[in-house]
Amino acid sequence: MEQQIPYKIYLDETELPEAWYNMRADMAEKPAPLLNPGTHQPLTAQELDGIFCEELVKQELNETDAWIPIPQEIRDFYKMYRPSPLVRAYCLEKQLDTPAKIYYKFEGNNTSGSHKLNSAIAQAYYAKQQGLKGVTTETGAGQWGTALSMACSYFGLECRVYMVKVSYEQKPFRREVMRVYGASVVPSPSDTTEVGRKILAEHPGTGGSLGCAISEAVEVAVRNPGYRYVLGSVLNQVLLHQSVIGLETKAALDKYGVKPDVIIGCAGGGSNLGGLIAPFMGEKLRGEADYQIIAVEPASCPSFTRGKFAYDFCDTGMICPLAKMYTLGSGFIPSPNHAGGLRFHGMSSTLSQLYHDGYMTAVSVEQTKVFEAAEQFARVEGILPAPESSHAIRVAIDEALKCKETGEAKTIVFGLTGTGYFDMVAYEKFHDGQMTDFIPTDEELQASFDRLPKVDA
Ligand SMILES: *Cc1c(COP(=O)(O)O)cnc(C)c1O
Repeated sequence: MEQQIPYKIYLDETELPEAWYNMRADMAEKPAPLLNPGTHQPLTAQELDGIFCEELVKQELNETDAWIPIPQEIRDFYKMYRPSPLVRAYCLEKQLDTPAKIYYKFEGNNTSGSHKLNSAIAQAYYAKQQGLKGVTTETGAGQWGTALSMACSYFGLECRVYMVKVSYEQKPFRREVMRVYGASVVPSPSDTTEVGRKILAEHPGTGGSLGCAISEAVEVAVRNPGYRYVLGSVLNQVLLHQSVIGLETKAALDKYGVKPDVIIGCAGGGSNLGGLIAPFMGEKLRGEADYQIIAVEPASCPSFTRGKFAYDFCDTGMICPLAKMYTLGSGFIPSPNHAGGLRFHGMSSTLSQLYHDGYMTAVSVEQTKVFEAAEQFARVEGILPAPESSHAIRVAIDEALKCKETGEAKTIVFGLTGTGYFDMVAYEKFHDGQMTDFIPTDEELQASFDRLPKVDA
C-alpha cells in the first residue's frame, strides 16, 4: 500500500545539506568561460578578483569538484529558516480534479520573502572572511537587495544597493526593509557613477533597468578599495549556493520513495531553477535517472525560447564580463507594462548549455495567465505567491490539467520561490483589468540581436 504522504514534508536541522552540489562537475560539455570584454580572452581568477570576492571566484571557476562543503557559519544561518518545507498540494490537486501529484518547495519563509537569501548569506560570509568593508549590488524588484541587506547586517558589512528607479518609486516598502537592515539604497540610474551619468544623459527620464543598475554597482565596487560586487543570480556560484533547494527537495522525496516525473521552475537569471534541479540534473547527466525539466519565462522577456545562444554583456553599460548564454541582447528592456518580474535579458550560462544540449526544455507564458494561476493557487493553498513564482505555478497547473485528460498520475514538483506581498500594485492592475500581455516582435528582437558583441569563439 502506498504510504500516506503528509501535507508538508519537513526535514530536521541535522538533515540540512553539508555540501552544495556543483552540476558543472558532471557536465560533459562545460559552460563557456566568461570573457574579458576588452580582449575577448577567458577571464583569469586574478582579473575576476578585482570585481568579486576571492573565494567566490574560485567557486565561479570550479568545474571539477562536485561537492563544496557549506561552512558551518552559513549552515548556522540556514538553520534559522531551513530546511524549507516541501508541500504536497493536495488542495490544488483536488480543485483541479487531476490524478497528478503536485509538490512545491516553498522558499518564501524568511523576511526577504524568497530563495535569494540562500546565496546572499554565502556571499556576505566570504566577503567578511576576506576582510572586506562592504559590497555593492543591484536590485530590480527588491528581493535580492533585501536578502543581501539581511546577510550583510548579520556579518556587519556595509551594503550599497542600486535599485532600478521604477521599482524604487513603485516599491517604497521594499526600500524601507533594506534600510531596516542598514543598507544604503540608491535609485538607478543615478549621478553617483560615471556610467549612471552617461545613461541619464542619453535617456533622460528613464526608469532604469537591471543591466544599468549592474553597471553602476560594478563601477563603485571596482573603484573603492575594500569593496566588491555581488550578484544575486546568473553566475555559477549563485546556482551552486541555491543547490541547497534541490538537495533538500530530493532528500524529502526520497524519504517517501517519491520520484518526480516533471520538475518546473521559473527562470529569470536561472538561480532558483538551477538550484532546484541540481541533484536531479546530476542524475540525468550521469545517466542514472531521467526527469522532464521545464524552465518557465515571461513571454515579454523570452531569453530561452526566443533568444540567441551567444556571448553577450550582462549589463547595459557593457563593462561586465561577457558570458555565453541565451540572450535577448544587453540593450533589451522589457515593456514597462510587464509586472511579473524575471526581466533580465540573459540566462545562466550553465543552464544555457544544458538547454542547448537538450537536458531541459523551456516555455514562455503571458502575464495575465500567470496572475490567473497565482490567484487560483492562493485561494486553495493559502500562500500569496510572488509573480515570478507564479510562472512555475502556471505551468504546473497546465501539466496537471494535461494529466487529467490523459489519466496519467504524474508526479510534478515545482519551485515556489517566494511570496508576493510587495507586488500588490501588479495584483491591483490584474484585478482592475489594466494588465496587458506584451510580446516583443521578431523585428524588435532582431534589432537587439544586431547589437550583440562580435566574438569569434
Ligand atoms: C529573483 C526571483 C526569481 C528569479 O530569479 P532566478 O535567479 O531566476 O531564480 C524568482 N522568484 C523570486 C521570488 C525572486 O525573487
